[in-house]
Order: sequence, then C-alpha cells, then structure tokens
Amino acid sequence: MTTSRYHKQMLFAGIGKEGQQKLGDSRILLVGCGALGCVLADAMVRAGVGHVRIVDRDFVELSNLQRQVLFDEQDVADHLPKVIAAARRLRRVNSEVTIEPIVADVDYANIAELADGVFLVLDGTDNFEIRYLINDLSLEKNIPWIFTGCTGAVGQVMPVFPHESACLRCLMPLPPPPGATETCDTAGVLGPAVNVVASLQAAIALRILVGQTQQVDRKLHIVDVWNGSFRAVDVSKLRESQQCPACQNGERLWLTGSQRSASTVLCGRNAVQITPPEKLALSLSDLAIRLALAGSVTSNPFLIRVTIPRSAEQPEVESPGGDLVAMNDTTPFELTIFPDGRAIIRGTSDPAVARTLYSRYVGT
Ligand SMILES: [Zn+2]
Repeated sequence: MTTSRYHKQMLFAGIGKEGQQKLGDSRILLVGCGALGCVLADAMVRAGVGHVRIVDRDFVELSNLQRQVLFDEQDVADHLPKVIAAARRLRRVNSEVTIEPIVADVDYANIAELADGVFLVLDGTDNFEIRYLINDLSLEKNIPWIFTGCTGAVGQVMPVFPHESACLRCLMPLPPPPGATETCDTAGVLGPAVNVVASLQAAIALRILVGQTQQVDRKLHIVDVWNGSFRAVDVSKLRESQQCPACQNGERLWLTGSQRSASTVLCGRNAVQITPPEKLALSLSDLAIRLALAGSVTSNPFLIRVTIPRSAEQPEVESPGGDLVAMNDTTPFELTIFPDGRAIIRGTSDPAVARTLYSRYVGT
C-alpha cells in the first residue's frame, strides 16, 4: 500500500494508520451504480476500501450525465453497462484496490452470492423492492447495510445493524404502494441532494469499516438541501416497539422470492425491465442475426440493442388497460438485451406493451 495516497485521510484521528489498514482489508457490496452509487463507489475506491464489488442492471444514457458523476458522453455512445464504465474510470483513479463490476439485476436468487464475504452492503438503488431484499439479506446473513433514498431535494440515510438497530421494515413495514409517494418521476431529483446523502452514507460506511460500529448513531437522517434543513430522528427504540415481522418473526418475504415481479417500470425512463423466470445463456451474435430482420442492431461484448420502428408495432401493442401507445409518438422502441435474457425496453412505461415486445423479439 502506498501511504502517500491516503496521507490526508490517515491524519484524521478517526481513521489513522490502523483504520487505513482496516479499509484496505475490507470487502463491500455496492448495489446500484446510478447517481447515489457513483458517488459511493468513487468515495470507497478513493478511500482505499480493498475490494469493491459493484452490481447494476442498467446501461449509461445521456440523461444520466446530469448527476451520475462517473460517466461521460463516450460511455453513452458506446452503450456501456454502468458498472463497466464505472470500473474503467475507477481503475484509473486507484489501481491499488480490487474493483469487481457485475452486470446483473439483483434478485432473491443471486443476492446471497453477490454478498458473499462482504462486511457491509451499500444502497445505491432507486428502488424499494431491492432495498427490502437487501434488508432481508442483512437480517439473514447478519451483514449491516445503509439505507439511502433521495427524491427532489430531500434525502434520507439510516444505517441498519441487523438484530440490533431498527431495520427498514421497522421503519416502513411494507414498501409504499406505487403512486403513493413522490418518486423521481414526479419529483425529479437534484444532483446536490444525491451528493449530500451519498456522502453521508459514505462517511457512515468508513466508520463501520474502520471498526467504530458502536459509535455510529442509530438515527434516520433527513436532509433537505433546498431549504438547508437537517433532521435526525432517533430510531433506537423502533425495533422493540414495532413488532417488526422481519426482526421479530424472521419473515423474509423478499429473500424467499415470494415478493417479486417479472417486470419493473424504471423510474423516470419511459422504460420497463423484463426478467425471464430462469436465467438464460443467450448467444448475442445469433440474436443479432435474428434481430437484424426487425430493426437496426448495435452491440458490444455486454449487451445487444435493437431499435424497432414504432410503425411496425403500432396495431398490435396497444395496452389492454387503454393506456394507448401514443398514436402520434413516432420514437422507435428500443430493446436492450443482456446475455442472461434480461431486457430493458424503452419507449413504453406499460409492462403489458413491454412483455409483448419481449416475447416477440427475445422469446418467452
Ligand atoms: Zn425490523
């Protein structure tokens, strides 16, 4: 380890030489590499956390560049998966740590393997389903994690020490139903708000990794960067008072797969992710030949993308719910398909339309 790289951080009494060594020996899992995840990954890699495993299901798009600080226009042009672009950048920042990028959707079937051997799980997602899954895993495997959410100018951060402090279900027994809360679709999200809560999470993470877990506040921190307000809610008694089904009764609805969906509407994207019931092992080159008949195809080693003119689809993909595929919308559908059979379908936020396109072009 080159000590000069970490000199300023080691001068800080909370870390010191011993803390730096502990960071170097640490392994973490970061779930999600969007706006939050970029700041978290950058902070962990620069701080010298020895092994950073980053998992994300998505690819880089132009609208990400406003706040996702690890990506640039070339990554958009190359259709790179976010973790691949992030790893390339982060390896130029710090070649002394191990960065392990994994292109995947975190689900009940793979999360235990993804979290194997890690000391801490960081939440970089924008998705409650995955957070409840992380919460289940944390309780089951006794791994701490740090919940973080951000919409508009407001962000929240709460560390979860399993079987000791309040978990996510102590705080919210069930995820908010769709439409019940503001999402980044309705409220947008401010880059500075993301940066503040991600940095709060990063600081808590460092404190846990240097072994000062007991000194971390058991609090829900709520910050509004627009008003400049900062609140900390004491949640230390919540675990005893809430009769939490996960903490008290061992309920693991997400980890057992009983709460899951085959399609996910992606926040703010006019896109839907379709996940096949079993992982596939598609040959991207064979698929490229087949899809070339349907539209224009581009690919890289990680994914394949086909753009399909909307006119080719219009009569057959009207949503049964009457949410018409806008008749005057001429932007093409865009299917991005990963080797495991997962696809992100852009041009609709209607799962029924997305499933129709998926079964026609990828298979059922
Ligand atoms: Zn709980």
